[in-house]
Amino acid sequence: MSNTDKVVIVTGASSGIGEATARMLVERGCKVMLAARREDNLKKICKELGDKSSYFVTDVSNHKKVLEMADETISLFGRIDVLVNNAGIMPLSLLASRRVDEWEETIDINIKGVLYGIDSVLAHMIERESGHIINVSSVAGHRTNAMSSVYSGSKFAVRAISEGLRQEVAGKVRVTIISPGAVTTELGFSIKDETVRDNMLKMLDHDFLEASDIASAICYCIEQPDSSSVNEMIIRPTDQQL
Ligand code: NDP
Repeated sequence: MSNTDKVVIVTGASSGIGEATARMLVERGCKVMLAARREDNLKKICKELGDKSSYFVTDVSNHKKVLEMADETISLFGRIDVLVNNAGIMPLSLLASRRVDEWEETIDINIKGVLYGIDSVLAHMIERESGHIINVSSVAGHRTNAMSSVYSGSKFAVRAISEGLRQEVAGKVRVTIISPGAVTTELGFSIKDETVRDNMLKMLDHDFLEASDIASAICYCIEQPDSSSVNEMIIRPTDQQL
């Protein structure tokens, strides 16, 4: 198996960074299982990508579904070499606004979803003494600010979980944290608090990266020789200060 002939699961592959990553991986020769909730998007992308791709409708906050996603990948492609735990939401708000449902959803998707993804592939990878888990955190996983407490908390958690995992499976499974800065995707639509959304737009006076910029960073990590593990990357637009 070469580093461009891997079986990769990408969660959150129905748009944005996940979609761009799935497309780039297939172009480079990988077989890709795309996972997300919006079946129409997944079906359309897979139709374009051809038989090196497949999809599994998955809500990453549902443990059973995530386990089924991994099982389906193994029955279709024979193994799982890489999991890209990318699905996420960013419903920013002030804590005082008491949008408790959004806090729960952020924790369920951004933290538990990542843990369920890890759980779905880890035994398989440990048994094969080979594999790679890539968890998408954020610049918000390195710093926090007002309105971002819960989202940042979830992304700090992704980094903590990833580092613990890295130490547990060193020598067997590679672990990578990807922390993007601002990228043009649909993520901003998960902000439901209109005041926050308007304020954010005013604050963001720098350029945005394209989703393909993050996809190529992820491909770089996957394509390194197995003896070399890229553990963490932060990728910002050049003029993003924070
Ligand atoms: P998008 O909104 O374009 O993509 C998010 C993806 O996550 C979609 O495919 C969505 O699919 C999926 N998703 C959301 N909830 C669930 C769920 N419960 N189960 C399965 N899939 C789910 O945004 P991005 O591409 O920007 O986001 C990808 C990752 O990058 C996220 O983790 C985000 O936090 C991170 N990130 C993004 C940055 C940016 O500036 N864009 C900056 C830093 C980090 P569906 O709705 O079909 O389920």
